[in-house]
Amino acid sequence: MAEAADVVIVGGGIVGSSIAYRLAEAGCTDVLVLEREPHQGRGSTGKSMGGVRAQFSTELNIRLSLYSLDFFARFEEATGCPAGYRRQGYLFVASNEEHLAYLQNNYQLLVACGVKSVELLSPADVLRLVPQLRADDILGGSFGSTDGFVDPYSVMTGFTLRAVDMGARLWKGVEATGILEDARGVAGVETTRGRIATRTVVNAAGPWAAQVAALAGVQLPVEPLRRMLVPTEPFPLISHAAPMVVDMETGFHFRPEGRGILLAWNDPEETAGFKTSFDPEFIEKILLRAVDRVPCFDALEVNPKRAWAGLYEMTPDHYPVIGPVPQVPGLYLANGFSGHGVMHSPATGKVVADLILHGHSDLIDAGALSLARFAEGRLLHETAVL
Ligand SMILES: Cc1cc2nc3c(=O)[nH]c(=O)nc-3n(C[C@H](O)[C@H](O)[C@H](O)COP(=O)(O)OP(=O)(O)OC[C@H]3O[C@@H](n4cnc5c(N)ncnc54)[C@H](O)[C@@H]3O)c2cc1C
Repeated sequence: MAEAADVVIVGGGIVGSSIAYRLAEAGCTDVLVLEREPHQGRGSTGKSMGGVRAQFSTELNIRLSLYSLDFFARFEEATGCPAGYRRQGYLFVASNEEHLAYLQNNYQLLVACGVKSVELLSPADVLRLVPQLRADDILGGSFGSTDGFVDPYSVMTGFTLRAVDMGARLWKGVEATGILEDARGVAGVETTRGRIATRTVVNAAGPWAAQVAALAGVQLPVEPLRRMLVPTEPFPLISHAAPMVVDMETGFHFRPEGRGILLAWNDPEETAGFKTSFDPEFIEKILLRAVDRVPCFDALEVNPKRAWAGLYEMTPDHYPVIGPVPQVPGLYLANGFSGHGVMHSPATGKVVADLILHGHSDLIDAGALSLARFAEGRLLHETAVL
């Protein structure tokens, strides 16, 4: 084999880039990232809404978020590129007792995890934050002031550029087509540009992760699930400093984007599959939910040509699969982020680099995220999936 690398990362999205950056920063600079598209960002990363938040319902996700939010705050210092981190907050709005109790429980957990930037809100507080909401049924809410949004493309680029500065390589337009093994485990990667000798491969292939795992004979339960976003034309009736607002009743959520609003809703009828075309019928469905919670959205103008669809990478318990695959020594997984891959990319890079270089990570108990949990019935449970 002519080419060789200490670590080959399959997938140059935000997750693969973050891992490359962390490895290089820790001194492991002989890293080669393979991206089959001619440009990075054509997978889920370039389609993301960029939401980042600490408001989750389990300690594991809160830990991943806290590390990541802190890193976004110093991203430019670390990488030389802006993350576009806007701390405009996430406002969860509850209009039934069950959701209110859920927010109260989360609040207790967040405080116990040391989060100081979250507060429970009365209906009046909710309206003070976003006066345009229909409030007749609102029972309360919760607001995290360090939650907000980043620019996923810029974060991916920052990780990559800094990793490359430190010696990592990125091959664009090159697909991994096989994972080679010998008696010791991973021995190399077969690609459309020839073989690469390596003892360590990281699967960071986003929605295509199951196919890459299958190259090593590993069954990975990660399924692509279409998500659609609808940007509006300029809309002056809502402040552009408004937070991400989540109507818990319907799952409809929105945030300011440019001079307009970015509308999101996860259609529960969507089924798994590589569907990446935008369905124009979705516009009516989402506007129905939008106007119901924000009556002035009646005046929104939408150009269907600007709307888009992308793929979530879903696991059965909506938690990622991070860590080594014991039956294929040298193969690592960083997959299945189930809608949270942008916000958790800094923590994921750290955990995967720690596991590769030291065999453990102080940040989280990575064993909880192992692939084995599915076979062993140790599924995790997170209810705050958007
Ligand atoms: C509409 C939408 C909204 C979202 N909103 C949010 C949000 O608000 N907050 C949040 O945190 N997350 C959000 N997400 C999820 C987030 O975008 C993803 O979890 C994240 O981008 C995953 O990054 P990745 O690098 O793992 O995958 P990707 O960005 O998909 O990168 C994987 C890369 O692997 C490459 N690849 C695949 N197979 C091969 C191969 N065999 N050889 C070489 N290269 C290969 C692909 O071309 C691709 O570029 C959203 C996703 C969507 C679709």
